Amino acid sequence: MTQTNPSDLALVPFVSVDHMMKLIHHIGIEPMLKDLARYIEDDFRRWELFDKTPRVASHSAEGVIELMPTSDGEVYGFKYVNGHPKNTKDGLQTVTAFGLLADVNTGYPVLLSEMTILTALRTAATSAMVAKHLAPRGATTMAMIGNGAQSEFQSLAFKAVCGIDQVRLYDTDPAATAKAARNLAGHGMSVVSCGSAQEAMEGAQIITTCTADKQYATILTDNMVGSGVHINAIGGDCPGKTELHRDILLRSDIFVEFPPQTRIEGEIQQLDETHPVTEMWQVISGAAKGRTDDRQITLFDSVGFAIEDFSALRYVRDRLADTGFCIQLDMLADPDDPRDLFGMVQRAAPGA
Ligand code: NAD
Repeated sequence: MTQTNPSDLALVPFVSVDHMMKLIHHIGIEPMLKDLARYIEDDFRRWELFDKTPRVASHSAEGVIELMPTSDGEVYGFKYVNGHPKNTKDGLQTVTAFGLLADVNTGYPVLLSEMTILTALRTAATSAMVAKHLAPRGATTMAMIGNGAQSEFQSLAFKAVCGIDQVRLYDTDPAATAKAARNLAGHGMSVVSCGSAQEAMEGAQIITTCTADKQYATILTDNMVGSGVHINAIGGDCPGKTELHRDILLRSDIFVEFPPQTRIEGEIQQLDETHPVTEMWQVISGAAKGRTDDRQITLFDSVGFAIEDFSALRYVRDRLADTGFCIQLDMLADPDDPRDLFGMVQRAAPGA
């Protein structure tokens, strides 16, 4: 048996943005989205094991900063994430993030990672994994409304996990649609740029809304949504920030991640607290039904939950062993005598 040198534990692997991009190209984006969907699905199956709490949010006039912790009893994880819809006007991302995994036994961090890109990957993988359980059988076309930072990741995850071969793009900013169409070219999907949300939804069995606005927006109205579709609603993820008209919710069977968080942040903040919703982990574990008929509208009211970030970090940690795409950070003080922290500082004095 190999012995772990205690001083090795004091170095924490850090995955930078550059390393995350290298990891994606090493694995391939579609295989990585499929792997992430599998990791997330596995953790949804063992949902009851996890500590769960609505994320801790600090709201301001322009956005929100949130902490998202969870633990399965062996590993602890958290993500720091922001949401600032006005950032893009200043050349900044709407969403940025980083996250950490730690060993529950020692409390020592075992991984620190960028999570801006990883959040886009895990959100897309979660959406597609959920749609695999809820979307109408044989779905081939998705409307992608909101063509910002998340949109290509969403489109490719639905291709890789659900077999979608046509994506119909719409954004209020035609430059965003042109950017997404350019980025998706050559990825083996038919890409159609549309002039309205209504046009994007023509012939689509899956509708993804992924817009950013700090208000009760109405991206879809009731008359736009026909029977039998699956709606993947990503952008409504904060108090006072929703995308769907309330009447759509009343016609849909609603599926959520963690109800106490979704009631605060999701589309269902527009409904009565007692309005029935189904928890996705129950569908995945077979305890609850997903889609039951062809005419039903299924709605995934996604807000993003800590367990999905935990799964994504777990995946990155597992893949680092064979790629080495990280640097070791000296971020934990590690005196030879654990009680002599002061002595260690003193011995580091210049000239000591
Ligand atoms: P982004 O700012 O890069 O893109 C948003 C796009 O929406 C922009 O191109 C904007 O022009 C477009 N838009 C705004 N209003 C519109 C409208 N009425 N119709 C069509 N398009 C419209 O943001 P992003 O990083 O792609 O994130 C999108 C949303 O997803 C944000 O609200 C973010 O908070 C949310 N999000 C959710 C999760 C989750 O897990 N549910 C994860 C990540 C991001």
